[in-house]
Amino acid sequence: MHSDLREIMLTEEQISGKVKELAGRISEDYQGNSILVVGILKGAVIFLADLVRNITIPVSIDFIAVSSYGKASESSGVVQILKDLDQIIEGRHVLVVEDIVDTGLTLKYLLENLSTRKPASLKICTLLDKPTRRKADVVPDYNGFTIPDEFVVGYGLDYAEKYRNLREIGVLKPEIYSKI
Ligand code: 5GP
Repeated sequence: MHSDLREIMLTEEQISGKVKELAGRISEDYQGNSILVVGILKGAVIFLADLVRNITIPVSIDFIAVSSYGKASESSGVVQILKDLDQIIEGRHVLVVEDIVDTGLTLKYLLENLSTRKPASLKICTLLDKPTRRKADVVPDYNGFTIPDEFVVGYGLDYAEKYRNLREIGVLKPEIYSKI
């Protein structure tokens, strides 16, 4: 375990098992169609890379970047598109892939924005869900794990741009927050 972690919440094995399960469900649900997988930068990158490699229907990939927490661990509720999609989504089956849904404010804004572009369908796949902190009415169509209200890092999730490369998902030691 990384020495900055207080505990491991989800092991590499638990994550990879869940990713395969989600990819299986997605492949089945969209059978006969192709999908555009939209990753929200940067947290969803690792999850998306593993997810799409387990999906068996035709997949295109695009990315969107929105303003996030920065260094603080609280959502401001203000969402801004920093990098928009490269592709036109009108008439396409769009699956938005997110690392974690917390307050839901980011996804609510994004879904409203994307739905004005008239996709054939628009669904959400998140690896983690923290429903206790929800402020916006957002329910993921696919969810890997429902987790308690803890700030987690690893497998794409960062703290001040660190720890994205950890293979597991864990909780930082409290002293790490005061150091950065
Ligand atoms: P929301 O708008 O749902 O509150 O925020 C979602 C975004 O906040 C996620 O995509 C992620 O970037 C960040 N976030 C929320 N909870 C956590 C967490 O526990 N750890 C990390 N690293 N980021 C989080």
